[in-house]
Amino acid sequence: MKRIRIAIDGLSASGKSTLAQGLAKSLNYLYIDSGAMYRAVTLFALREKWIDRNGELHVDALVAALDRIFLTFRFNPASGRGEICLNGRNVEKEIRTHEVSKHVSVISKVSEVRNKLVRAQQRMADGGGVVMDGRDIGTVVLPDSEVKFFMTASIDARSRRRHTELQKRGRDTSFEEVRDNLEDRDRIDSTRDHSPLQQAEDAVVIDNSDLSIEQQFEHMMAIIQDTLNG
Ligand code: C5P
Repeated sequence: MKRIRIAIDGLSASGKSTLAQGLAKSLNYLYIDSGAMYRAVTLFALREKWIDRNGELHVDALVAALDRIFLTFRFNPASGRGEICLNGRNVEKEIRTHEVSKHVSVISKVSEVRNKLVRAQQRMADGGGVVMDGRDIGTVVLPDSEVKFFMTASIDARSRRRHTELQKRGRDTSFEEVRDNLEDRDRIDSTRDHSPLQQAEDAVVIDNSDLSIEQQFEHMMAIIQDTLNG
């Protein structure tokens, strides 16, 4: 059976990672969370204090330090997925904070950051058997991937889901803060010069505002099976 590459792009909190992880598990493929890599670089910049109070990034300092940033994924049997490590330390929890979400889109606008991460993502997908989610996977990272999905949902549905998720993790971010952050990120991610969030022409669009995870999974798996059998 051939091992293909599956690209899943879409809006913030549109359910990409839940579906990507489910599909990867069921196909016995590697799941690569490209957003975690941008989040880890953001965490690095925050720790170095290269983002000021107004959200302005000290771009030159970050670009000069890129060679000192090593990102890897380490499999955690407890969560059943690869977790991101920044210079050898697992930072999977730290990268999910509101602080990181607030600044990540400014970091991901920087061309040098994107070039470095895109190259790393392409290397990880060498040989196939991967499900990768993000914003530019079907357009830039893996334009030749065999199956592409583009996920979207209403801002209300996305905000509700992300808010519930954060509450479950014990974070007291308000619903309004979550919604404002998703809107901000969608706007910056879609309008940046370098590889903006964009639907690939050959992507299958999944609007999941009113679809359960099981319905999405079945629909996506049927498309994947078609490609595998085709
Ligand atoms: O997927 P997630 O919401 O964790 O991504 C966090 C941020 O990383 C996005 O808002 C976007 O700015 C950036 N990103 C990107 N390209 C990707 C994946 C994520 O620019 N392929």
